[in-house]
Amino acid sequence: MLKTLSNCPVCNSSTYAPFLTCKDYTVSHENFDIVSCQSCGFKFTNPRPTDETIGGYYKSEEYISHSNTSKGLISKLYKAVRTYTLKKKLALVNKNVSRGTILDYGCGTGMFLKVCQDNKWKAFGMEPDEGARKIASEQGLNVFSDKERLQTYITNETFDAITLWHVLEHVTDWEQTLSFFKARLKPDGVLIIAVPNHTSYDAKTYGAFWAAYDVPRHIYHFSPDTIQKALAPFGFVLKEMQPMKFDSFYVSLLSEKYKTGSMNYVRAFLTGLKSNWKAKGAGDYSSVIYVFKKA
Ligand SMILES: [Zn+2]
Repeated sequence: MLKTLSNCPVCNSSTYAPFLTCKDYTVSHENFDIVSCQSCGFKFTNPRPTDETIGGYYKSEEYISHSNTSKGLISKLYKAVRTYTLKKKLALVNKNVSRGTILDYGCGTGMFLKVCQDNKWKAFGMEPDEGARKIASEQGLNVFSDKERLQTYITNETFDAITLWHVLEHVTDWEQTLSFFKARLKPDGVLIIAVPNHTSYDAKTYGAFWAAYDVPRHIYHFSPDTIQKALAPFGFVLKEMQPMKFDSFYVSLLSEKYKTGSMNYVRAFLTGLKSNWKAKGAGDYSSVIYVFKKA
């Protein structure tokens, strides 16, 4: 079952055109259309699975971001990089706000949350996946299945930092979620969002095979331009952008697999390298971390 949006989630325009048709390579092997808003340029998967059916598209052993098992070279590489990037993520948060209360929205198994808690942050998490949430809870982390339960628990708590590491592109209740962040972020707090960028060199190189389109799990596809348009109505302005330089290699390798059926490590590495090099001026890396503050 699919749901069709008749208006752009960002600017509400009803005029959109086909952008790409992509295949779900990890779970269903179904095709999904991505459309482009003719008014603001925002790209979104349309139609998309309903709230009732979307869960079925997350059931895959290959969907490793929620799993702690270590199988295969990609998985091992992914984990080595993740350990390194966890430290970089914490450093970015600490650079922007002094310690206080943090919410990691879509925290998965709680790896980043644990790092925060170990570094004197009062840490809360939200994670809809039951298995991932259980792993997080077993480490003594405060993790909730949805923002309603979180709200009930925290009552009037507000946050110095809210982080979404590759999460916003999955969020179905867009307006409620961003309104929640607006209400719960302290006036001098930061909202940190990491998402793939479809204007990157690797995205343009692989087209419909670009792994970070990841339909239908990714329902929104951002660029540095459209994410600012998307966040502006909720009172957020961009403070800084940071590259995620490892993502270009990882995404290129997966894209090679989707495109050719085999891992071409050399070509993926060269594409990743070129993507990072070309992004130096404008900052249009394969994935970008956006630091937003309240206007
Ligand atoms: Zn639009």
